[in-house]
Amino acid sequence: MSDSYGWIDEALNAIHRANWYRSPKLITGRADAVVQLDGRSVVNFASNDYLGLAGDERLIQAAIAATKEYGTGSTGSRLITGHRPLHRDLERAIAQLKQTEDAIVFSSGYLANLGAIAALVGKRDLILSDQYNHSSLRNGSILSGATLRDYAHCNVANVREILQQQRDRHRRCLILTDSIFSMDGDLCPLPQLLDLADEFDSMLLVDEAHATGVLGDTGSGSVEHFGCTGRPIIQMGTLSKALGSLGGYVAGSASLIDFLRNRAASWIYTTGLSPADTAAALAAIRVITQDGDSLSDRFTNRRAALWQNVNWLKQNLITAFNSDNSTTPHTLLPSHSPILCLQVDRPSTALQIGNNLLQQGLFVPAIRPPTVPTSRLRITVMATHQPAQLEQLVESLHSIFS
Ligand SMILES: *Cc1c(COP(=O)(O)O)cnc(C)c1O
Repeated sequence: MSDSYGWIDEALNAIHRANWYRSPKLITGRADAVVQLDGRSVVNFASNDYLGLAGDERLIQAAIAATKEYGTGSTGSRLITGHRPLHRDLERAIAQLKQTEDAIVFSSGYLANLGAIAALVGKRDLILSDQYNHSSLRNGSILSGATLRDYAHCNVANVREILQQQRDRHRRCLILTDSIFSMDGDLCPLPQLLDLADEFDSMLLVDEAHATGVLGDTGSGSVEHFGCTGRPIIQMGTLSKALGSLGGYVAGSASLIDFLRNRAASWIYTTGLSPADTAAALAAIRVITQDGDSLSDRFTNRRAALWQNVNWLKQNLITAFNSDNSTTPHTLLPSHSPILCLQVDRPSTALQIGNNLLQQGLFVPAIRPPTVPTSRLRITVMATHQPAQLEQLVESLHSIFS
């Protein structure tokens, strides 16, 4: 008899041989800049909780109050029994933060991308997607059935070239880009992409997962950072990174949002976001839009504390690693965000350095193919990191590489 499932073990073995194998790590205790990893205290340089809000007492209390008022589950899809006043309050708060007419909240950012893209385009349409876009943009594109063309990373000339060659042969066109690229930390050329969308009668969806709460004067994201507020654009993002909760959203014109409520399958046919998650995200938006929530007297808000940490660490890493010559096997990749990546030559090198740092009490994940084309250590900075913790990271990296 043949074993129809034998290929799974063979596939796992191949993953091991390539040093691509991954498994979840056990973290206990409350989300913070220091966490318990496998029972040991480590400084957390792996979290997307940029503002340190996931363990914040105000969010926790909001989640508890919402659970007591409404229960643990929302009991059904938003169109049937799963719609609460909290959902509309959150959607209005997101629309206000994004300066759009309306917003719609999904159960995750991943589902927001799947649902929005598959609703906006179909078989007769064209998608242009940055080669380094997030998995959810890629899989949303495949799900839509549209013709998918990747363009070279942040390469505006390449976008124009593809539009010139292909735009005419399709009905609608949708350009997709991360704003802050999740595994690199650099920023998309948003104003130029918007100009091209304008010129070639195309829609543009920007994924603000890592930029919401991080970029812009009010924390609105890259659209605000680039002064593009008010231009026709589909802004999506997540509630699960700087906002410290769970869920995703799309923000834009009233008709876009109304259309998604009627056509986005991943919103219609799934249970509404839980009361606790909804309330925590709403509390987070209130925190980030009010000043005076300083972590120390030196800053007006958490965002300022975050950028102080990012700029300090970046400057010190550049001094340590990018000052000699560019042919060194490790380089700090260009970044405009709290994501700082140290690229190394091989997956095994990245793993080795990651383990070495862990022994010194520093949690910095090694990111390897197939997630990214080249192996790297991915450092994420939080507003709540202490100066001494950042110094420790620089010193440890320096001793490993010298
Ligand atoms: C994390 C992430 C998502 C998915 O968001 P979730 O809410 O975690 O599902 C989408 N896009 C990008 C760029 C991300 O980094």
